[in-house]
Amino acid sequence: MPVTQAPPLQRAIRYVKGVGPARAAQLAQMGVVTVEDALYFAPRRYEDRRRLSTLREAPPGELVTLRVQVLARSLRRIRGGRTLVEASVGDASGVGSAVWFNQPYLAQQLRVGEEVLLYGRLEPGSRPGPPSARAGAGRQLIHPELEHLDGGEEDSLHTGRIVPVYPLIAGVNQRWLRRLLAGLVEQDSGLLDDSLPEPLRAAKGWPPLPQAIRELHAPSSFEALEIARARLAFGELLLLQLALAQRRARARHKTKPQRYQLDGPLTQALRQRLPFRLTDAQERVLRECCGDLDRRHPMYRLLQGDVGCGKTIVMVFLLAAAAQSGAQAAVMAPTELLAEQHARVIAGLLGPLGVSSTLLAQGLAPAERRERLQAIASGEAAVVIGTHALIQQEVAFKRLALVVIDEQHKFGVVQRARLAGKAQEPDVLVMTATPIPRTLALTMYGDLDISTIDELPPGRGRTTTQWLREAQRDELYALVRRELAKGRQGYVVYPLIEERSTVALRAASRMAKHLQQEIFPEVKVALLHGQMKPAVKERLMQAFLRGQIQLLVSTVIVEVGLDVPNASVMVIEHPERFGLAQLHQLRGRIGRSTYPACCLLVSDSAEDAARSRLQAFVETTDGFRLAEHDLALRGPGELLGRMQHGWWRLRLADVTRDRALLEAARQEAQALIAQDPDLREPAVAALREQLARFRQRPG
Ligand code: ADP
Ligand code: MG
Repeated sequence: MPVTQAPPLQRAIRYVKGVGPARAAQLAQMGVVTVEDALYFAPRRYEDRRRLSTLREAPPGELVTLRVQVLARSLRRIRGGRTLVEASVGDASGVGSAVWFNQPYLAQQLRVGEEVLLYGRLEPGSRPGPPSARAGAGRQLIHPELEHLDGGEEDSLHTGRIVPVYPLIAGVNQRWLRRLLAGLVEQDSGLLDDSLPEPLRAAKGWPPLPQAIRELHAPSSFEALEIARARLAFGELLLLQLALAQRRARARHKTKPQRYQLDGPLTQALRQRLPFRLTDAQERVLRECCGDLDRRHPMYRLLQGDVGCGKTIVMVFLLAAAAQSGAQAAVMAPTELLAEQHARVIAGLLGPLGVSSTLLAQGLAPAERRERLQAIASGEAAVVIGTHALIQQEVAFKRLALVVIDEQHKFGVVQRARLAGKAQEPDVLVMTATPIPRTLALTMYGDLDISTIDELPPGRGRTTTQWLREAQRDELYALVRRELAKGRQGYVVYPLIEERSTVALRAASRMAKHLQQEIFPEVKVALLHGQMKPAVKERLMQAFLRGQIQLLVSTVIVEVGLDVPNASVMVIEHPERFGLAQLHQLRGRIGRSTYPACCLLVSDSAEDAARSRLQAFVETTDGFRLAEHDLALRGPGELLGRMQHGWWRLRLADVTRDRALLEAARQEAQALIAQDPDLREPAVAALREQLARFRQRPG
């Protein structure tokens, strides 16, 4: 073989016999580009076709696979412009029917006399009919999956065994794909180089890789399939954890230029000025961060802690440490309002100690902006606060050493890297209140050190949550009034499906007007929304903070980070439109002081998923439990996707189901990297190669 040719497993699927450019393009949409991709392309489910049921025996209400003959078929137009294809089908035991809505093309595909496989649920009420060809009689399946059999030799691939059913996109045919993959598995799986170290594989009792791949596509039994799947998932998770462990190990080999004076006049003065004592958890986390700053290699740490636990003050201590060491620090927040709030808190605590800070806000006058950029470039501004505006090219620092990213899940990987790129090996702290279940944290942040604040400051009032119906509005307003009468403040959150929609905005402002004029004339009500100018928003927030506004009607922009301790009541309109994580963030705006707080949901939603979400939300205020619930409800794909970590796409492993494997893979990866950081040992050569390819995998 000429050296320029791709190794057999890396050859493009396009050149495999029977594929060609059009099919290759379809396969590429499913993530299958090379022969190796195809071998790892996992079925969506399996059907046990070793023994098919008959129409007579098949239990109603359950999923069954039937092998039947098409006796007659019809295509009709029904109410609402929909189409209905109905086939009457039969086997030796009786007759039945299958119907499909809005798939008129099926009428052409079904030929009378042909044999087909149907997979679906038998309608509970349907009874087996007599063995005759009366249309509409007997058992019925609604929208079954359909597979044509042609009676040829090849049918043995599709019947008489446990058959894989692959995820498809439009235009790709199940039988065609099954045949293609069966061919490739037969021909090429033997070429797969097992990257799992042999002793490990043997210890777990796992089959060699080629055999596991064969089981994946053509299971000999469900037990064997489960073992093979575990082995393959572990292999994939191991690659992921190796990539993360290596990244982490490499970061530890870097040396940063900055040194810190951790205990000094500024940090001491800050401690004295604090109106409260740090909690044990805050002290511990602060120690962990300071330990990082003290090391030669840069800090790369995630600070997580539920809403209101007090992450900000930990950050302020680190900023003080940087300032007393003559270094610059940058704080990036996802919204203007949060950046302004941080700027205010930082100026309030550090300003009197002589630390100069500057906010790079939107909408600054050009001269003012130039001045601030100048202060950043000259090093005169010790602490710089801003939104993603901080990563703009024209923002240059004199001696940036510490980078803090708040609510980091709101930023993409690239944005974080850009900010860090403005310094030479900076110390990086990322903070999040979006609670992440441990398994996900391991998947996503295996390269970060993690610190967790797991306690709230003492004396916090309890937050209760109530779910009210539209019909209970009077009761709702009475509850709000009770809080306002005590001198507390409140939020009314009014979701705009689209920030830019004027219709929705009008609804929110009508709401604000209604509340002011008809419901709460005795207090000041104001509207805050995303389309306002930054300066206007900030003025409103300030007025709210100072207690000049009692009730703030707002779109979701109050979501992250805002801290107005006197606010103790929140009404959430249409809570069913929010995800659990968002609801939790919203509710986190109240209950930030000693006053008991009260979160009121107004919803008549009858939709199952929404009900289950809201129910969970009413039952607990524990962010980690809600996150677990969210994960179970929606699966990790969406969570991971939302968090913009697209650079790996797990093909076989599922971090919800495979938690134990994930932990095991993480330990194994750490052990391997500790022993052999670059994976140079011959025993792990295959692993090293796989890892290189894994890194290139399209996200
Ligand atoms: P988050 O972790 O959600 O960012 P913040 O840092 O905004 O929370 O803190 C929430 C509130 O708790 C703030 O008003 C802050 O001043 C207050 N706080 C923080 N730490 C303590 C503490 N140890 N004791 C009392 N109050 C605290
Ligand atoms: Mg915060």
